[in-house]
Formats: sequence, C-alpha cells, structure tokens
Amino acid sequence: MADNKSSGDGTETFAFQAEIAQLMSLIINTFYSNKEIFLRELISNSSDALDKIRYESLTNPSALDSQKELFIKIIPNKEEKTLTLIDSGVGMTKADLVNNLGTIAKSGTKAFMEALQAGADISMIGQFGVGFYSAYLVADKVVVHSKHNDDEQYIWESSAGGSFTIKPDNGEPLGRGTKIVLHMKEDQMEYDEEKKVKEIVKKHSQFIGYPIKLLVEKEREKELSEDEEEEEEKKEGEEKEEDKTPKLEDEGEDADADKPEKKKKKKTIKEKYTEDEELNKTKPLWTRNPDDISQEEYGEFYKNLTNDWEEHLAVKHFSVEGQLEFKALLFAPKRAPFDLFEGKKRKNNIKLYVRRVFIMDNCEDLIPEYLNFVRGVVDSEDLPLNISREMLQQNKILKVIRKNLVKKCLELFEELTEDNENYKKFYEQFSKNLKLGIHEDSQNRKKLSDLLRYQTSASGDDVTSLKDYVARMKETQKQIYYITGETKDQVANSAFVERVKKRGFEVIYMTEPIDEYVVQQLKDYEGKTLVSVTKEGLELPEDEEEKKKQEEAKVKFENLCKVMKDILDKKVEKVIVSNRLVESPCCIVTSQYGWTANMERIMKAQALRDTSTMGYMAAKKHLEVNPEHSIIETLRQKADADKNDKAVKDLVNLLFETSLLSSGFALEDPQVHAARIHRMIKLGLGIEDDDEIVPAEEIKTEELASGDAATEDASRMEEVD
Ligand code: ADP
Repeated sequence: MADNKSSGDGTETFAFQAEIAQLMSLIINTFYSNKEIFLRELISNSSDALDKIRYESLTNPSALDSQKELFIKIIPNKEEKTLTLIDSGVGMTKADLVNNLGTIAKSGTKAFMEALQAGADISMIGQFGVGFYSAYLVADKVVVHSKHNDDEQYIWESSAGGSFTIKPDNGEPLGRGTKIVLHMKEDQMEYDEEKKVKEIVKKHSQFIGYPIKLLVEKEREKELSEDEEEEEEKKEGEEKEEDKTPKLEDEGEDADADKPEKKKKKKTIKEKYTEDEELNKTKPLWTRNPDDISQEEYGEFYKNLTNDWEEHLAVKHFSVEGQLEFKALLFAPKRAPFDLFEGKKRKNNIKLYVRRVFIMDNCEDLIPEYLNFVRGVVDSEDLPLNISREMLQQNKILKVIRKNLVKKCLELFEELTEDNENYKKFYEQFSKNLKLGIHEDSQNRKKLSDLLRYQTSASGDDVTSLKDYVARMKETQKQIYYITGETKDQVANSAFVERVKKRGFEVIYMTEPIDEYVVQQLKDYEGKTLVSVTKEGLELPEDEEEKKKQEEAKVKFENLCKVMKDILDKKVEKVIVSNRLVESPCCIVTSQYGWTANMERIMKAQALRDTSTMGYMAAKKHLEVNPEHSIIETLRQKADADKNDKAVKDLVNLLFETSLLSSGFALEDPQVHAARIHRMIKLGLGIEDDDEIVPAEEIKTEELASGDAATEDASRMEEVD
C-alpha cells in the first residue's frame, strides 16, 4: 500500500505504485501522434462500469434506484479548458479509487511498458488493462468524481508526478457513477471541439451498447413575447448607442409590408442553447442482416468489443433458429493476447446478452477453455434475464449454445485453411489452442486434427496436413510415422528418421511440447495408427528378403545383445537388433506406453512436478543395435570371443551414453561420461595413463577382477563410479 498522508479537509495523498508512476511518465513524456485513443479508453471503461451495474440490477433491481438511466455523457468546455465524461455505471468506492487508479499494478502495466519500448503503438494500451492512464496523453490534470452505491462520493485527483489525492466530494451529487474531468493540455484543445469528439466517437466507439451523448451548443431563432420585445428594444437602443451590431432580425418583412395595421411584426432572436446529441445510434451489429454489413463495420465492432488495436483475422456471423434461438458473432483475432497461457485460467471472451441486454462477459460454460482466444457476442432469445452464474452452469439452453459455438468456431477455422497465408498467421498464434483441444475435446478431435499442420521429412520448409500426408502414403504403408523432439533440425537429423526416410516413407516432425500430449490422444487418423519412430515396435513394411535378413541378424547378434544387457543392467529394459538404423551404430527407443525422450525432457522441465513420480514414469529405454554397422560387428566379434572382455564393457557404456545423447535424452551423470571420453582421447593420442587419475581403490578392484595383461589398456578405461 502506498504511504498516505491526511490533511485537515480530509484530503489524503497517496503515492502511485512504482510501475504505474513509470507508465504515467512514459505516457506523458513520449511523443505519440494518435492521442485520440484516450477517449476510446475512457468510454470503454464507462461501458464496462455500466455493464457491471446492469448485471447487478438483474438480481437486485433496486441497485438502479440511485440513477435509473444508463448513459455516457461527454461535455466539452472550452472556457474552462476541460473535457468531462460522465457515466451512470457502477462507480467506485473510496477503496476502489485508491486501488484501481494507482496503488495496485496489474501484470499488464509492466507488459505494456515493455511492449512500448519494443516499438508497440500507444493504441494497444487497452489490451493491457491500463487504459485509464491514457487520459494523461491529453490532460495534465485529471479529476475523477465517483459514487458507488456502497459508499459516499469521493474525488480522486492527480497531475501525475508520482502521487494522487483522495477526498470526500461535497459538490454536485452524481447519484451513481463516475465523472472524469480532464484538464486539457494547452496544445490538446482540439479534443474540446464538438466536431473532433464526434469524429473520434464514430471512429472508435460507435458500437458501444449504451447511448453516448455529447453536449452540443446550438443556436435557434426564438420569437419574442411582447414584454421581451420591449425589453429587447430597450437593450437594442442601448446597444446601438454603444455601437454594437444588432442581434434582432425582422421576420417576414416583405409579406407583412402591405398590412400596416396588423400588430407589430414578430421579432426573433438568435439564442444559444445546449442539447444532448446521441452519437451512436446504430443498432447492435449482430441483430443486423449480415448481407448489409461491411468488413469495415465488422472490424470497428471487433475493435470496440475487444480493445484490440488491429482488426480481426476472420469473423463468423450467424443465427440459430428453431427450438432455440440465438444470434452470434465470433471473431478470430490476428494475434494471441500477451497473457494467453499465463498461469491462471483466463476468462473467456464471449459476451453473453439476453434479448439485447448485456448479461456477462466471462460465462465459463459458454465456450471451452481451449477456445478462449475467440472473441465475440452471443445474444439469446430464450435465457431468462435474471439468470445467475450458478444457474447458467446447469442450464440446458446454454449447453446447446456452447455446442453450436464450438461447431461454428471450427467451421471458421476450417474456412481459414482455404487461404494459406492467413491460415499460417492463425496457426502460428493459436496452434497450441487447437492442440489443447485435441487433448480435451474428444467429440471434435477429428475436426481439430484436420486443422493440424506439421513439417515433415518430405515437406521442406512448408507444412502439411495429416490429410495430405495420408494421401501421399505408399501403398504398403499402414502407419503414420512421426517423431517428437525439440527442434526441426534435431529430429530431422536423428538416427530414428534415417531408415524410415531411406525406405521412402515420410516422417512427421513434431517439435512443440504439447505435441506429446496430442499424440497421446490422437492415436490414429483416418484409420491409420500414428507410430513414433523412436518407440519400440516400429514395423516398416518389409519384403521377404528383408525379413529373412532381419531374422538372421537376430540370431547372429543374440550373444552380443545379452552381453550388452548384462553390462548395462538396469539402465535399459532390453537390447535388441534394430531394423530402423542406417548410419548410426545404435539408438535408444522407448517402450510403446512409456515416455519418449522428448516427453522425459518436458516432464523434467516442469520443476513443480513431484519428482518421486519420475522414477517409474521415466521413459523405459530399449537399446537397439545396428547389425550392419562396423562398430557393432566388431563388438560382436570381441564379445563372441570373450564375453568378459573389459574393452567391450567400457565401449558398451560409451556407446550407450552416446546414444542417450543422440536420441534426445539427458545424461544422468555427465561427469562420468566426460571422464570416459577423456580416457578415449588419451588412448587415441597414445598417452600413457598417469596413476593418480585412476583412484587407488578402483585399481584394486580391477586387479581383483582380472590380472590379465591383455586387458591393461581397457582397465585404465574403467568406469570411475
Ligand atoms: P481496465 O479498465 O482495463 O481494467 P483501466 O486502467 O482502464 O483498466 O481501469 C482500471 C480500473 O479502474 C478498472 O478496472 C475499473 O475497476 C476502474 N474504473 C476505471 N474507469 C471506471 C469508470 N468509469 N467507472 C468505474 N470504474 C472505473
């Protein structure tokens, strides 16, 4: 909480929270040309406040007693150099004023400053939830009067500079709502012009759901009564003496010219008066016929709805009729919001209306979480107006609406795929959501899987859909091959892909952590099983000859496999002869139901996860050896000759550790591996090992195990653990 000092008249001074103060000085001191967005931000805040009180009044009608009419009013005043905005929204209590306008920073405060420094436009401010401070683009002092039903009326005031004050407001009562008085900067007086205000409201706020009224000055001719006339004539005489231009005009002079006895001509006067002019009379967009709505209108509506600074990527406008009726507008944005996957559940972005009355904007049951990036409006004819959150949860109508919304969203995405460029943009931003959907929404899994795009061993830099993959499959190919990993380069060069590629099959590269979850759920596509090339049981279609060769290799390498399993012991489940390798001597595959190397990496990265589960959840590793590789062949000969060959033991460990690395696993104990490599290097360089490197104890066990002179070199390479 900020330090707060009280003074005699009840004024308390507060310091702005540090980041907010920083943001304010950035807003004040940086040059931005499109300052006009301040009005949009303030109107949007008013509209939110009106939404809140309207929602409250659905269950508690007396909440509106303090002010029945719901409106936003704008009052320019050139003499005072102020621009005032009044709304009859929910208002703010004293505590709200302190917290919301200065002492509690939101995650958006910092995020927005970073975005600004990275070149973002000031107009993006609304997205970050700090729109109020845009008032300081045009004002050097801002005074906020506010009255909430639960508190007295208070005044918040600040000329920036790190602090603000709060005091009780004994002035004109608001009833309920908020009045913001902007004391305009000398060079920003253009925003006090009627024309300018009208222009900005039309541009940015025409779809706000409450009347926005502008107090305009007008002139009219007024007929004077006889008394007034005399009065006026007297004045006129005086004015004439003072040599001022006459204000009076004669009306219908010619017509009356030949009727001299008709009572004296009516005199009129030009009189100034003020009047409210409603600036946003457009019908709610979703109630209009889509054929009559232009893309620009959708764009403006979308920007009003979302505070987004750019237009939407795609829109779906539809109505459902029959047993149940509703209209809806769904938008896919161009960009994911900055906090799309930030910790806590994001509220969804569909506003719920009932018969044109706004109900709420974060109704959880309206749309599944994975579609929380879709923005829009739903207007139901059937729901009761006074529906509460709790009632909505069980509501059957809502369930049907939800089902329809999901269906329409998927249609919208499907339509987007027709335009490669647009779909690419969309996919970059929201592929995670689609994948989350595959994990969560079993009913729509098939449709969602149609939307996936991946790079493959055959796609070059382009991406491909599963449908296209299947269309390209060879006749003999029964399964869809994929590999998961960290990057495209890593998976493309992995030993696992070698053989499959060499045999002319295409491998899908999955390089996002969430892909691991996708393949857990998406077991097949169009009847073809998805098979990881890094897991056991990969069966490439083979001809008879190859099968025979494989059988022979199994027999030939049986002994080596057994020796290797004995050496590696618990580190692997089994050692088998591989049919998937071409150039690598061996690789580590994981059992069909265990984690892949990639999954193990992801799980380890999730630090909060209970590490005790790591033991049995960790990937079950199988070591596969390449019977056609010279290293393996030579090892086989050595092992067949002497299964206790020390060199074999050390080389097997080295091979295993190297395969762990090349298969995408992390080493349990990199130091041991390093020591082993160093000994190999020395061996390669012909350096005689110096005694102190091998701990005395170990030499003893070596000697006990074998005093054989032939294994001298190998014993120096023994494991140091
Ligand atoms: P945002 O509106 O995105 O939350 P702002 O910085 O624009 O961020 O406003 C901060 C908060 O101040 C709002 O969340 C709201 O609680 C309060 N507020 C701002 N303007 C009004 C208003 N006209 N009436 C009631 N509350 C308001």
